[in-house]
Amino acid sequence: MQTVHRSQITAELNSRIKAAHNVFVLTGAGVSAESGVPTFRGGGNSAVWKGLPFDVISSAQMVQRDLPAVWEWFDYRRGVLSGLAPNAAHETVAKWQDRFPKFTLVTQNVDGLHTKSGSRDVVELHGNIWRTRCISCNARFEIPADGPRPNDCQNCGDHLRPDIVLFGEMLPTGTFELAAEKAAECELCFVVGTSALVYPAAGLPEIAKSAGAYVCEINAERTSLSDSCDAVLTGKAGELLPMLDQL
Ligand code: NAD
Repeated sequence: MQTVHRSQITAELNSRIKAAHNVFVLTGAGVSAESGVPTFRGGGNSAVWKGLPFDVISSAQMVQRDLPAVWEWFDYRRGVLSGLAPNAAHETVAKWQDRFPKFTLVTQNVDGLHTKSGSRDVVELHGNIWRTRCISCNARFEIPADGPRPNDCQNCGDHLRPDIVLFGEMLPTGTFELAAEKAAECELCFVVGTSALVYPAAGLPEIAKSAGAYVCEINAERTSLSDSCDAVLTGKAGELLPMLDQL
């Protein structure tokens, strides 16, 4: 990965950060890469779990067909995540909620690392691997990091499933709408560690930009979004975000 050069931070970006009152951050799998979580296109995309491709085992159809197999896969993923800690990128984003008068964090990640690093009110577009949801009444329950995962709904007794937006499913009602409303209000929008290929999440920077925000991308490489951004910082999120925080 390219070394981070401070020279990428322009005078314009510097003054935008110093003057900002309303900041919006959208994160993707790249923000957790330095914590050891594989990105979607860094291995996960081609991953096969017991002969089933990633997008089959993580699909709405599979919940109907073989819920225990889905749980086996998500239990494995939680096991991998339980030993991992937030990195400097998560920590900087958590600091920013108290630095800027208005601040919104929207993530596509399901790993819970933003919350673990102290971020509050995280808008989780794709759910959270540390939560279950009842397949009948939609009641949600936390999964303890160090205890057994609940099997049945404490509300109605039916089966629980991961509280994750699986392939073939819609985003939870109101979640994208809230994210879009906040994106349209911000003055400064950071898009961090996302390949910007998964819609509707990838549309949020476009919403911010068309409402007049200054959009800065932070990514290990250029993406399909880069050409429409006002600033593009290439490098590791765990190095670039702390650098921006020092401005
Ligand atoms: P993606 O895998 O499609 O893209 C990751 C992006 O991060 C790439 O553009 C890559 O260049 C960049 N990147 C990698 N390392 C980086 C670093 N250290 N600093 C900055 N950028 C870095 O991820 P996506 O766009 O979030 O979409 C994938 C989908 O899969 C999402 O819907 C997400 O919910 C899910 N997913 C989540 C996790 C997680 O929770 N951590 C992990 C994998 C996939």
